[in-house]
Amino acid sequence: MHLYSTKNKNLNIEFEEAVLRSLPQDNGLYMPHEIPLINKKDLLVLLDKSFEELSFEVAKNIIGDSIPEEILKAIVLEAINFPAPLVMLEENIYCLELFHGPTLAFKDFGARFMSRVMNYYKRENEKLFVLVATSGDTGGAVASGFYNVEGIEVVILFPKGKVSPLQQKQLTTLGKNISAIEIDGTFDDCQSIVKQAFLDEELIHKYQLSSANSINISRLIPQSFYYFNALRQLEDISDVVFVVPSGNFGNLTAGILAQKMGLPIKHFVAATNINDVVPEYIKNGHYNPRQSEQTISNAMDVGNPSNFYRMETLYGSTWNTVKENVSAYAFTDGETKNAMKEIHDKYGYIIDPHGAVAYLGALKYKLDSGHNGPTIFMETAHPSKFMETVESVLNIKIEIPERLASLSEKNETFTILHNDYNEFKNWFIKKYH
Ligand SMILES: *Cc1c(COP(=O)(O)O)cnc(C)c1O
Repeated sequence: MHLYSTKNKNLNIEFEEAVLRSLPQDNGLYMPHEIPLINKKDLLVLLDKSFEELSFEVAKNIIGDSIPEEILKAIVLEAINFPAPLVMLEENIYCLELFHGPTLAFKDFGARFMSRVMNYYKRENEKLFVLVATSGDTGGAVASGFYNVEGIEVVILFPKGKVSPLQQKQLTTLGKNISAIEIDGTFDDCQSIVKQAFLDEELIHKYQLSSANSINISRLIPQSFYYFNALRQLEDISDVVFVVPSGNFGNLTAGILAQKMGLPIKHFVAATNINDVVPEYIKNGHYNPRQSEQTISNAMDVGNPSNFYRMETLYGSTWNTVKENVSAYAFTDGETKNAMKEIHDKYGYIIDPHGAVAYLGALKYKLDSGHNGPTIFMETAHPSKFMETVESVLNIKIEIPERLASLSEKNETFTILHNDYNEFKNWFIKKYH
């Protein structure tokens, strides 16, 4: 697999470099030069396989011989060890449950695969240091995905008082190769410290540093697997629309990769909260990134989606070609809460706020387009991850899965630092000298 940068078509680098670097030096995004098409006959064979087998075939198709087949197979089988079931709410309305991984969010797919690929590529006898700033879900998935992976040390920076108590537990109770640092500042401050570390000659000379942020191409690839797996669970796959609750648009971009590999996806619908820069773009052709606003679907509070240019590039970089393939709608918190109630009353199904936004997108698209085939919307987090909101909206008590509930008894260990790069650097050098 070879990649270029969205800012330089002539760049031609190996998958290994894209994984370890995350971002090209020109600040573009890595894109594959080729996305091999799986022909119809092979696709039908593929859709008869198990989720794990199918995931391996899809990975092999796009990654090619950048990772030897046997090793790639082991990586996929280890990473994708939980299901992604399709639940029918009513005829032709399906919910794709992506929350069955260890941290109960769909980010487990990306983090588990990326950690193992990085482990394969890291230089022998040398430690790899993965730095990541988190506002919530990403940190937990990365911590769990990299936990106990030999030769990799993970440092997670989180903003004081701005992640939920259970999210914080997911970062601070593992120990071993996972270190958590509470920064007396905001998420942007955490991110800025990570960025400075990557520019610090002294550090990058001495340590092999990498990042686990969402634009890493190795986080996107495994997210294409569950699109294939969703169609595997349908009888008729000729007319399928996916509705994706979107923030940074990694999930939707992975769907486009699946489509380019030959999966017959008719159309995509992006559903957002009031952070609606992409719905605005689809409406009028102008892309105006701006500061994000806080909502109850906070994993989608993104004002400058990092995968926007990938999505645009995959559809030929014009507004017309993008909007032919992608519809987009935005919903308020009020509408989201009503949808959560409606789904509970009508189907007895408990949904989290992100999934509820997607459900609204599904209804609106059906109404606007008259689409009659299967519409699959994604549930990206288990409702208990957003327990406070879900319980107050539905006026019920919800059950917390054991792997989340057991966290509350565990002891937290983390380092407290000021919002100061030099303080972070001194801590880092002292710890890993
Ligand atoms: C990260 C996240 C999203 C948004 O996914 P993108 O790939 O950034 O568009 C949606 N829902 C949940 C629960 C998330 O954690």
